Amino acid sequence: MIPDEDFIQIQGVPGPTKEEVRCLVMCKARIASNDTVVDVGCGSGGLTLESARKARKVIALDKNPEALELTRQNLQKHGLTPKVQLVEGDALEVLEGIESFDTFLVGGSSGDLPFIIKQGYEKLTKHGRIVVTSILLETKVEAVDTLKELGMTPDVVEVTIAKGKITERGTMMLGRNPITIISAVK
Ligand code: SAH
Repeated sequence: MIPDEDFIQIQGVPGPTKEEVRCLVMCKARIASNDTVVDVGCGSGGLTLESARKARKVIALDKNPEALELTRQNLQKHGLTPKVQLVEGDALEVLEGIESFDTFLVGGSSGDLPFIIKQGYEKLTKHGRIVVTSILLETKVEAVDTLKELGMTPDVVEVTIAKGKITERGTMMLGRNPITIISAVK
């Protein structure tokens, strides 16, 4: 995984998803070298860059132009630009124009999560995977319900990472916010 500090970060654009959480997302996404990945809400590019290291092609989309620009810079910094197509726009509109893909990552939804999951499911190849990362209670429930409605069996993992901070007196464990990773196979 790429260390958090190796990402260019700016105020106003969330991410990157913390390294330990990226690990789990990638573990659940099981991306193969010939796969096409769609990353909805690429933010700082945390999951886009990790996907680009594994997949054949990544389509990263975000409705915030600043997020796309930041992802572009991070891709360039890590030499991953050629594998990634960056698309600006709302997920539901952009997804319309994409053919099919093997892995569907959802990290942002702005209240449209059920629709985004359903639209992604339509374009997902057989045995393809959906992985939703969620910090809001409501979206966790929406993700589980929508995947079940589509006939999938969601795998739900919630983690609260605590990181050790080295101080003079010892290593202080600082907890981060819980994050849930909901995944399913078509
Ligand atoms: N996974 C990213 C962080 C994602 S933050 C990383 O590791 O860096 C969520 C992002 O989703 C934000 O940049 C936000 O602009 C985007 N987003 C939220 N709703 C969206 C929508 N409906 N369509 C496109 N992008 C969306």
